[in-house]
Amino acid sequence: MSKTLFGMIQALQETISSQEAFLTELDGAIGDADHGINMNRGFEAVITKFTEEDTDIGASLKKLGMTLLSTVGGASGPLYGTAFMRAGAEAQGKETLTLEEAEVMLAAAIKGIQDRGKAVKGEKTMLDAMMPAQDALKQAVAEGLSVVEGLEKACAAANEGIEFTKTIRATKGRASYLGDRSIGHQDPGATSFTLMLETATKYLK
Ligand code: ADP
Ligand code: MG
Ligand code: MG
Repeated sequence: MSKTLFGMIQALQETISSQEAFLTELDGAIGDADHGINMNRGFEAVITKFTEEDTDIGASLKKLGMTLLSTVGGASGPLYGTAFMRAGAEAQGKETLTLEEAEVMLAAAIKGIQDRGKAVKGEKTMLDAMMPAQDALKQAVAEGLSVVEGLEKACAAANEGIEFTKTIRATKGRASYLGDRSIGHQDPGATSFTLMLETATKYLK
């Protein structure tokens, strides 16, 4: 099987679709039980906009982000929409990526989410998986690891980030309305990010 950007986007859509109920259940515990529904609606729209002709990573991530922005709704739509668009802006004209370029893209995505949502690390959001993943990528670049090796480290860090979200109280987003009752539950957005990162990593292996 040859690996293409379209193939990766299809893999992401399949993951979101198969995990829709799980993500929604997680959001049911601390939010309004729609995260899986929101993300699945977004990726169902995304998949209709891509073909094997889409090979420019930058242009494609911008298109993907704009589609999520206009279809996902909720908090995660604008946040993921901005994240993919900012990541795409770092990859204009590129058809392959180095690990270093991937790290720069993830950093830009995080910055976009923070510009929009004003959250910092430790507020029980998607950032609590994204920021450790970015740190792991940076470390992997410094160690000279391959793209897949670096991404595997980032997946491990993102999963630790999910575990961390179970231990803390939400102070951003709907889950913050629950105060201490949000402790003990993992963050849906941290989970969807980690699932997407794992899917991308597996696809490239
Ligand atoms: P909504 O909360 O509007 O129903 P979703 O359920 O789709 O939207 O998404 C919820 C997820 O959005 C949370 O699990 C969290 O990860 C993320 N989130 C919410 N607010 C913020 C924020 N300010 N910064 C970063 N992520 C956030
Ligand atoms: Mg929700
Ligand atoms: Mg909602």
